[in-house]
This record gives sequence, structure tokens and C-alpha cells, in this order.
Amino acid sequence: MTATLSILIYHRVLARPDPLFPGEVDAAQFERQLRLLKRFYTPLPLGAAVQRLQDGSLPPRAACITFDDGYADNAQVALPLLQRHGVHATFFIATGYLDGGQMWNDTVIAAVRQAAGPVLDLRAHALGTLPVASLAQRQAAIATLLERLKYLPFARRQQLAMHIRRQAGATAGPPAMLSTAQLRQLHAAGMELGAHTASHPILSTLPERAARLDIANGKGQLESLIQAPVTLFAYPNGKVGRDYGAPHVAMVQNLGFRAAVATDRGVARPGAGLDLLQLPRFTPWDRGRLAFLWRLRQNRRQAPPARPDAG
Ligand SMILES: [Zn+2]
Repeated sequence: MTATLSILIYHRVLARPDPLFPGEVDAAQFERQLRLLKRFYTPLPLGAAVQRLQDGSLPPRAACITFDDGYADNAQVALPLLQRHGVHATFFIATGYLDGGQMWNDTVIAAVRQAAGPVLDLRAHALGTLPVASLAQRQAAIATLLERLKYLPFARRQQLAMHIRRQAGATAGPPAMLSTAQLRQLHAAGMELGAHTASHPILSTLPERAARLDIANGKGQLESLIQAPVTLFAYPNGKVGRDYGAPHVAMVQNLGFRAAVATDRGVARPGAGLDLLQLPRFTPWDRGRLAFLWRLRQNRRQAPPARPDAG
């Protein structure tokens, strides 16, 4: 059997379930997934897995846990569970949001969560009037707004998110991102930290110079905070051809990253098709035990996506 590397994507591990996001992983669910991974897979640090992909020593069902963006619950909730189970994870940090920052999507979520209702009137910003009387309507409003804003030019997206907050009469809500102290705590615990840009733009929406600068800044800031080299990178949003392309792969290579992860589904295998600068990853969110394992298995059967040439 060919060895395969399954790389799992997480963002948050909530201390307790959030009714607004019933699909989000919480502590109990994360712990169940760790148990399943230990039992049926061989969890490895991503850096070690990359090395073993290269030298042909990858075990048959290797798996890596990765976290994107840098949420505080990664240190508060996920880290103690990872330590309890002796499982390693890699955390990709968007450095611009450390110490009290807020990503645009969280600004929108906080606004809709707090909106007094029964409607959120965003006609002034050409976003219509969204009903927010019930939980289901709030969920639908969040999905609609995230979809509408996601691919707007970076500055416009930030600006609209702030408009929505004001219109909802909302505050930022409690800070959700890591502090520098928590970041160092992850590093001191032996977890791997990877770069994820500074401001988390969708790279393909930026001029190339700005994209390169944001990738370089994220790497530099992270290295100076932890006083260690950062050699792993995750493309924001991460779909090849839509969120990043060949020029960004070349930037990542030229900036000295050893490996990078995308969000296209599938597994990495040693051999001719292996591209360490575009490793596939997938999100295994699912409530049930069998569904989680089934998703991992389906993902291993995924055909490799078409990749642009790294150049
Ligand atoms: Zn991200």
C-alpha cells in the first residue's frame, strides 16, 4: 500500500458548543477526533511528515493536524488536549491579528450575533435588508454576508465589515485571537508554527508586489516573535487557481519556505506527483465517529488536483 499523508484543517476548537455555529468543533468533539486519529492513523508533526515524504519513509496512514489563523482557543482549549494525547499540531498564524486584532469575518459574525433585530438594514451599503429575528435567520445572514464580502478587494472588505458592525450597533465582542504570550506558549510546548501572511488577504486579489510583501511580513514577524526560523506556509483561503496561483507558489519558494499547504482536498503521496509547495488539506468536520473516519478515507481516494507549475 502506498503511504499517504492526510493533512487536517482546523480553525477553532470552542470551549463549549456555540448555537450559532453548531458545526464548529468543540473540545469534546476534538478530543474524540484525536482518539480516532491515534487509533487509526499515525499523527506526525507536519515538518517531520514533509521530511519523510521526501526521503520515502512516510508510514502508511500518516496524518497531520493543522490550525489556521491563530485563534486564542488554539492555546486555551486545543493545546491541553493535544498534550494530553501526545499529538502534535502545526499552527499557521496571520500575525497582523495577534494581541486583540479581529479578522473581517469575525467582525461580521460579531455584528450579526449582537444585532438587535428583527432586521439588519444594510441598504446603505447595497447589501439589502437581512432578517435576524431567529437563530436560523442569523446563521443565514452570516453566510450571505461572508459570501458577498469574501472576494471583494481587501480594503473594501475591511471597510464594509466595519460598516456592518456600526449598522448593527455592535461592538467587536471578546478578543478571539492569540496573544503573543499564548503564541509563545504554543511554541514552548513544542508545537510547530507556520506563516499565514500578516493580514490574511486572498493573495490573488492583490497586486503581486503587495502579495509578496504580506507573505514576507508574516514570516518575518513570526520569526522575530518566536526567535526561530519559520519554514512552513499556508495560503489564505487556499484554493489553487482561485485564491492563489503560480506566482504565489514561486514567491513562497523564493522566500525560503520548505513546504506549503493549500485547501484543495486529497492526500500527499511520495513520488512524481508530489509538490511540497502545494500540499493538499481538508476539513474533517463531522459530528459522528464513523463520519469522521469515512471522510478521512474518502479524502485519501481523492484524485490529485491539477497544479500550476511552481516555476
Ligand atoms: Zn486562514
